[in-house]
Amino acid sequence: MDTLTRYAQAKIDGLEAQSLARGLKPTHRFDGVRVERGGRQMISFSCNDYLGLSHHPAVKAAAVAAIGLYGAGAGASRLVTGDHPLYGRLEARLADLKSAEAACVFGSGYLANAGIIPTFAGPGDLVVVDELAHACIWAGARLSGAEVVAFRHNDVGDLAAKLAQARRAAGHALVTTDGVFSMDGDIAPLDAISQVAREHSAWLMVDDAHGLGVLGGGAGTARLFPDAHIDLHMGTLSKAIGGYGGYVCATAPAIELIKMRARTLVYTTGLPPASVAAALAALDVIADEPARVAAPLAKSRRFTAALGLPEAQSAIVPIVLGAAEAALAAAAALEAEGLLVVPIRPPTVPAGTARLRIAFTAGHPDEAVDRLADAVRPWLAR
Ligand SMILES: *Cc1c(COP(=O)(O)O)cnc(C)c1O
Repeated sequence: MDTLTRYAQAKIDGLEAQSLARGLKPTHRFDGVRVERGGRQMISFSCNDYLGLSHHPAVKAAAVAAIGLYGAGAGASRLVTGDHPLYGRLEARLADLKSAEAACVFGSGYLANAGIIPTFAGPGDLVVVDELAHACIWAGARLSGAEVVAFRHNDVGDLAAKLAQARRAAGHALVTTDGVFSMDGDIAPLDAISQVAREHSAWLMVDDAHGLGVLGGGAGTARLFPDAHIDLHMGTLSKAIGGYGGYVCATAPAIELIKMRARTLVYTTGLPPASVAAALAALDVIADEPARVAAPLAKSRRFTAALGLPEAQSAIVPIVLGAAEAALAAAAALEAEGLLVVPIRPPTVPAGTARLRIAFTAGHPDEAVDRLADAVRPWLAR
């Protein structure tokens, strides 16, 4: 074995010994709910396709039509020749939805965060991040070269303390948080966070990957906090929107600067036209179908009520089991009943908090939600 291969095998062996090994499992998704894995049909509670739009006929038709008109790929970076005509329409729609002046669409949410944060923070600056914020916020913060400080999850007092400690020495400061936390399903107190940020002359970026299309009538988490001042509204087109891509909404000059300087926009090929067209069609569905938008939260609340858990705040409900082995065992038991809930283990979540992360979507029949609650109940008592 050469040394690189030996290194890889030793790392894998170590992960396996800790029940932290992972692997890809081919999954055929028939719609937002039914999947086939390993020859078995199951109901998935692990897709972020909250509104089932990845398989919506109008969304698929828009993607197909865009391929016919503009081809399968963008052909170049958006700054070269990849800025096909659908981009402007999508950015206008997103800006409108977020009551912002302008928007910029990226290749993915991860690319967006890795590009936005270094556009506004660099060496000598300060980035303050909720400790449970998504991995790509951390990636962008570290990439920026700024000082990066964590504050305790949703703890506005700790945020204020961290800013009081580090703000003065920094050039400018950026506070970033998820709107809805991806592995916990809780919501950031954006009004209080915004107030503290302003008191310390810090900017605020909110990553609303799991709020868009689900909360605030589809507009996202910020709609629940009308008094919050949010400088950068970031999100993804890959969850409730059902396709692929990321975005940020802000003032026109902020967006103009991002389009000039964000390296994950400048030095990468534009999204395929089909993805942009699909997102536009998905936003039409969200605007036209308030009942679909309301459904994921209704399903998650039906589930938490059935189990006597604190009322769900979003479409995501965590069942924290602690040890990685416990999460694996619980997920295997659910799978045996035809319910797919992928276990989430460190490093995606902090050590000792392995969990079932349950995501509810508009297409889940109430009967399936109730069946899941019955199947999860025995695991709560342990
Ligand atoms: C999924 C997710 C992202 C990444 O978005 P992609 O479009 O999948 O790259 C960013 N932030 C949060 C909070 C997420 O959950």
